[in-house]
Amino acid sequence: MVSQQSGTSLLSKDDVSPSEMDQMAREHVWAHSLPWVDVAENDGLRVFARGDGAKLWDIHDREYIDGISGLWVVNAGHGRVEIGDAMAEQSRKLAYVSAEAYTSEPTVHLAHKLAEIMPGDLSRVYFCSGGSEAVETALKIAKQVQAMRGFPRRYKIISRRGSYHGMTHGAMSLTAVRNEAFFGPFMYGVSHVPHPNQYRSDFGLEGEAADIMAAKYVEQEIENQGPETVAAVIGEPISSAAGVHVPSPTYWQMLREICDRHGVLLIADEVINGFGRTGKMFAIEHFGFVPDIMTIAKALTSGYAPMAAAVVRPEVFDVFTKQEMIGMGHLLTFGGHPVCAAAALKNLEIIEDENLVERGDEMGVYLRDRLQELCNHPTVAEVRGLGMLNAVQITSDKATKGKWKKDSKFPKRLTALLMDRGFVTRVTGEVMHFAPPLVVSREEIDRMVTIADECLTVAEGEFASEITA
Ligand code: PLP
Repeated sequence: MVSQQSGTSLLSKDDVSPSEMDQMAREHVWAHSLPWVDVAENDGLRVFARGDGAKLWDIHDREYIDGISGLWVVNAGHGRVEIGDAMAEQSRKLAYVSAEAYTSEPTVHLAHKLAEIMPGDLSRVYFCSGGSEAVETALKIAKQVQAMRGFPRRYKIISRRGSYHGMTHGAMSLTAVRNEAFFGPFMYGVSHVPHPNQYRSDFGLEGEAADIMAAKYVEQEIENQGPETVAAVIGEPISSAAGVHVPSPTYWQMLREICDRHGVLLIADEVINGFGRTGKMFAIEHFGFVPDIMTIAKALTSGYAPMAAAVVRPEVFDVFTKQEMIGMGHLLTFGGHPVCAAAALKNLEIIEDENLVERGDEMGVYLRDRLQELCNHPTVAEVRGLGMLNAVQITSDKATKGKWKKDSKFPKRLTALLMDRGFVTRVTGEVMHFAPPLVVSREEIDRMVTIADECLTVAEGEFASEITA
């Protein structure tokens, strides 16, 4: 164990060498979901020290391009001193009030600003601290509102296979990949339907027909469950976890109509999609529909502070104005935190002043154009995405769209090769993600593509026996 001298600032690393810091990280930090063998193989956890724009530096001063914006979070880029200043100023003025029955100036300004920029009439904001909490909040709003409207039996939630909605219990129950052995039984009343996927349709269909069938399936599921038992349908407008398949607008418009027809609330989870990630401020703008509830998090503050929210339309909130003695059965200590709200306000100001939504859209076109070059690789099947939410589909067999064997180490090896060459991203199953901050430069995009190209070549050489060329 490394001892720290007493009397020195806990924030100062001057008296701790980089290798001691690595050792302290290995001994005391619990990486959220990394298996221990990965920590050991990578010689510990990588400890980052600073960032600027789309770049990061670790404590050994190695430089990286952040090709995943942290975790689809840092839309405005790293090193925004002005956000730090806004937070410092607010914390000096007022650091905290409880969200139970009070609020604060920056929180009011933020709720007002969100109501202004959100599509349609999404305008009532329930603040919380992270995406999973936002999803839990949305679930509880849906169930309570249905009950207060006179439908207490409407408790079921329909989610989609391949989706990710978080890791708290309710949110995890909606998430497609969840560990039954450790955490089951999951929340009662959740069912999963096929996801819109034009690359590999569950129905063997191609193009928009695949998405239309996926939408029809949702209606069939509502009917099978019994519409009088269904509270809500939830989905990410474009799901990163499911592989960044961009659905046809018809899919979402059909889901809107289906939900309306059956008295079911529609929840759009924009935790990743929101705040310019997809080339619009919110992804629902691509698809021409307004959900009843929308969840936001991550880039609301570009990661400078933990903040999230569930935002609803007046007709959802309305029931609380009619049944005046009942509030939401929900309370989160850090909901609407003034310092986080100050961070969010400054972040939104930057996004607007620097036209980052438009910039991300433009640079996204350039990025996808460059990524097309990777399709020369025997393992790259296609490039998909919108704005700065992009994916490269990797396959073990292009002709048959073959999946990697369950125990294949190809994706993991590719991630490690990319990391070693200074490109931080995720390779999950069949997809290599390209989602840098919206401020990324053309040169940085070129560098990401060059590194990806090199690493694919190396990995394809190492795993030749698993690849059908
Ligand atoms: N919803 C979506 C679509 C997400 O992608 C995530 C996280 O990546 C969550 C919810 C959960 O957010 P958090 O990790 O902040 O709890």
